[in-house]
Amino acid sequence: MSNTPKSERKHIVFLGRRNAGKSSLVNAIAGQSLSIVSEIPGTTTDPVSKSMELLPFGPVVLVDTAGYDDDSVLGIKRIEKTYKALSTADFVVLVIAADDTVSMEDIQQMDFLKKEKLSFLVVRSKSDLMSLPFADETNAQLNLAPEYISIKDETSIESLKNKISVSIPEEIEPPLCSDLIRQGDIVILVTPIDLGAPKGRLILPQVQTIRESLDSSAVTIVVKDKELRAALAALNRNPALVICDSQAITRVAADTPIDVPLTTFSILMARYKGNLGIFVSGLKAFEQLKNGDKILIAESCTHHAQEDDIGKVKIPRWIRNHTKKQIGFEFSQGNDFPENVRDYKLIIHCGGCMLTRKAMLSRLKQASYQDIPIVNYGMIISYLHGAFPRAIEIFPEAMNVWQN
Ligand code: SF4
Repeated sequence: MSNTPKSERKHIVFLGRRNAGKSSLVNAIAGQSLSIVSEIPGTTTDPVSKSMELLPFGPVVLVDTAGYDDDSVLGIKRIEKTYKALSTADFVVLVIAADDTVSMEDIQQMDFLKKEKLSFLVVRSKSDLMSLPFADETNAQLNLAPEYISIKDETSIESLKNKISVSIPEEIEPPLCSDLIRQGDIVILVTPIDLGAPKGRLILPQVQTIRESLDSSAVTIVVKDKELRAALAALNRNPALVICDSQAITRVAADTPIDVPLTTFSILMARYKGNLGIFVSGLKAFEQLKNGDKILIAESCTHHAQEDDIGKVKIPRWIRNHTKKQIGFEFSQGNDFPENVRDYKLIIHCGGCMLTRKAMLSRLKQASYQDIPIVNYGMIISYLHGAFPRAIEIFPEAMNVWQN
C-alpha cells in the first residue's frame, strides 16, 4: 500500500479558519511534523500534502490548507489554492477551534460543502482549551454534532482517525480494461519507449493497464510498436484487444487486422479518470476551429519538456498542419489548471494519470460550466492520425456520441 501513487489515494482535505488547529491536527494524524505550527495566524500558506495509510481504510493523502479567512495581501491567492485542493477532496474535515465561536465563514463553508455534495465532518479542535457549555451552546444553535479533539489526548486522535476512516465514501470507479477482456484472452500492449518516462521504467497508464490485464487472467503480451507484426505472426489466434500508445497509433492501426479491436492507453485513461462521452463531444468541436482561436493544452504533471514534447510541440504542430489555420496555444501544468477557461475554444488534456478521478472530473465540470469543449491527448492524436473512430469502437456509448 505504501507504493500506491497519490492519484490512486483518497484525498482528505482539512479546512478551517487560520489558527483553527488544522496543521496540528494533520501532524497528529500523520504522526509527524509536516506543516509548520505556530500561534501566528496564517502560518500555512500553500496546501501541504502527505500520503499515509489510514487504517482500517487504506492509502490516503492528508491535505492541510491555508485558512479561508486569510485577509492578508496574498490571501486571495491562498484561498484560490485552498479551493483547488478542495476540488480533489474525497472527504473534508472542517476544523473549528472549540474555544472559539462558529463564524459566518464557517457556516458558509458548510453550506458550500453541502452544495457540492462533499462528505465532511466537523471537528472542534483544542478541546482542552474550551469551556464545554460554551461550545455545546454554539453547536446546538447550529445543529452540529462535531468530534471534540485535543492533540494532547491521543485517544481523541485515534477516535478521529477511525471516524474519518469509516466516513470516506466508497465509490465504484470504472475499470481501465478488465471489462473489455475475458479470462484466457490474448491482449497485446504496444508500448514504444516514451522519452518522457523515467529511465528504465514504463509510464503509469501502461503499468496500470498491464496489472489489470494480468489480474483479468488474460495472456498479456507487451511489445514495442516495431515488434507488433512479429508478435501477431507468432500467435495461433487473433488477440482480443490491442492497446497502444497514442503516438504509435498510425503504425499499430496499419499492422493490426481490421477485425481486431484496437484502442489506446490514453482512451482507457479518459474513461478511467474522466468521462469518455464528454471527451468525444469535445472532439466533435475540433473541426469548428477558426483563425485566431486559442487552445489550452493541459498536463497534470510537471515533467521537464522534451525536445519534441508531445504536448508542447507535437500536438500543436499536428493541429496546425491539419487545420491550416492560425491557432494559438497556451499551456498549463500540474495544479495550475486555470479557473477561467472561457477564452479557449478547446481544451486538450493529457491522460491525467497523476490526477485523482475526482480532480479530473472537477476539471471536466469546470469546462462544461463554461461551455468549453474538452478532449484528451489520445483522442485528438488518434483523430489526427486517421485512427478515429476505430480507437473507440469497443465503447458503444462513446460511438453513439460520436455518430449522433
Ligand atoms: S499526468 Fe499526464 S502528462 Fe503526466 S505522465 Fe500522466 S498522462 Fe502523461
